[in-house]
Amino acid sequence: MGKRFDTLLFPGGFKKAFTLSYDDGVIQDKRLLELFEKYNVKGTFNIGYGVLGYKPEGPGPFSISKVEIEEVKELYKDQEVGGHSLYHSDLTSLGEPYMMYEILEDKQKLESLVEKPLQMFAYPFGLFNKNVKRVLKSAGYKGARTIRTTHRFDLPDDPFEIDPTCHHGDEKLMSLAGDFINSASLRPQLFFVWGHAYEFDKDDNWDVMDEFLAYMDANRQDIWFATNGELLSYLEAYKRLEYSVDGSMIYNPTCTDVEIVTSFTTKEVLKAGEITRIQDTLL
Ligand SMILES: [Zn+2]
Repeated sequence: MGKRFDTLLFPGGFKKAFTLSYDDGVIQDKRLLELFEKYNVKGTFNIGYGVLGYKPEGPGPFSISKVEIEEVKELYKDQEVGGHSLYHSDLTSLGEPYMMYEILEDKQKLESLVEKPLQMFAYPFGLFNKNVKRVLKSAGYKGARTIRTTHRFDLPDDPFEIDPTCHHGDEKLMSLAGDFINSASLRPQLFFVWGHAYEFDKDDNWDVMDEFLAYMDANRQDIWFATNGELLSYLEAYKRLEYSVDGSMIYNPTCTDVEIVTSFTTKEVLKAGEITRIQDTLL
């Protein structure tokens, strides 16, 4: 085989992926979901089951009330539900049995609500350590999101430390969106935006989100729009590809078709469960 430069492509043969992540299951998710539907975008809503239905008392400039348990399945049916710990605790502060309970009870309760295994978790307050990561893996999660802004479009090295590109309130949001759309990088690029929907009331900036999602929608022709879990499942399938020593064969042992580009230009669809013969390349 000649010189190779194998690179992941997202489903559809795209080099770019866009995903969103919103925390806490607040009542403003309803308005945000209308925007998601309007612009046909995908994301993950991370919920602490134990605080669903919680309605804080007293006057305030904005509400952080949570949606009701009975609303969850229908409300988020076109998006992904992720875990966020049962009572939104600092998981790094707890003894292991209770930390495990916070993670497992939240996951089990949400799974029986939405009737599917949960794949994605968001660290409450962004706080985690290696024990929390280990328990999340044992609980069957595929990955977890931090709150560390990167202002970059790299794929995560560690699926349990997914650092988002930026928060939706970031002053660079639209310039990052422009950079992402206009990027001609040969490497796969991921634009990952997170936040809390109550912040749109608090900061009176629903128009910012409307403008941002409209821009992403208008430029969607070469971008894969995915939930966090869809993204992680795809990256997992990519990592499981099995190469022959001479590079002429690639076996895809998963149930997901995986697309790659070899030698800069040749697109290959590696079919689920099949061995693909890679064309010889000229030096
Ligand atoms: Zn939270």
